[in-house]
Amino acid sequence: MTGIAGKVVAITGASSGIGAATATYLAERGARLVLGARRKDRLREVVAQIAAQGGSAVGEVVDVTRREDMMLLTDTAIDRYGRLDVLVSNAGTMAVSPFDDLRQDDWDAMVATHVTGLLNGIGAALPVFRRQRSGQFVNVASTAAYVVKSPQGVYAATKAAVKVLTEALRQESGPDLRVTLVSPGFTNTEGVGKGAPPEAAAAIARQRDEIAIPPSAIAAAIGFAIEQPGGVDISEVVVRPTAQA
Ligand code: NDP
Repeated sequence: MTGIAGKVVAITGASSGIGAATATYLAERGARLVLGARRKDRLREVVAQIAAQGGSAVGEVVDVTRREDMMLLTDTAIDRYGRLDVLVSNAGTMAVSPFDDLRQDDWDAMVATHVTGLLNGIGAALPVFRRQRSGQFVNVASTAAYVVKSPQGVYAATKAAVKVLTEALRQESGPDLRVTLVSPGFTNTEGVGKGAPPEAAAAIARQRDEIAIPPSAIAAAIGFAIEQPGGVDISEVVVRPTAQA
């Protein structure tokens, strides 16, 4: 199937920011959506907004760190729409901090969300894609996967893991599947600097206000990768503000 219309797309982290913008972008182009995140109220708002504009979306409360939740997401796609064409693994947390702060709970959350969460998505969707003999993984990393800047050490390491896992998955995926890495730069979302210590959060907020691009820019890149003909794999896309060094 070429294009976006009619495709069944599951998106994690769809309750705000890039995930919500991607849901809206794809719904406007006729995709049928299964949206996952932990905040039920915010998820419900995104689903309602899509429905009000004539789109098709269902929301499930999903914590990507739990295997059974990711199974629920893919099962919902099959139950509701009969198939799953794309899994966008976008859920993430950007609670960056210097090592000396010893924010070990934040470190654990980033490892669990970005690494274990991505693997849980692969575990849930790969058997479906193999059965269908088609499917696409779109994994959201970051420019931090390419260049580490303090105090982003743990965040950057987990996003580098997303990049490596995505490339390895692509090599094993064979001719029927597509695997895409999308790496945003500074993007204007509520998650930027959330949970960071005050000093770091203030610096991040200043930079966000000066240079960040809208989440719709990342949504368009994800849409570009999805709309390609079946045999065409957009393997890697980096989208950053022109002002980002
Ligand atoms: P947001 O905070 O707006 O979005 C993050 C989303 O992830 C939310 O919907 C949140 O929903 C969800 N989420 C977090 N943890 C979990 C979890 N354990 N299970 C399920 N959902 C979860 O920020 P962004 O839109 O900016 O972030 C989206 C992705 O883009 C992240 O992976 C981030 O690292 C990446 N990115 C963002 C950049 C930026 O500058 N904004 C730059 C580079 C990469 P909920 O809390 O409801 O679960």
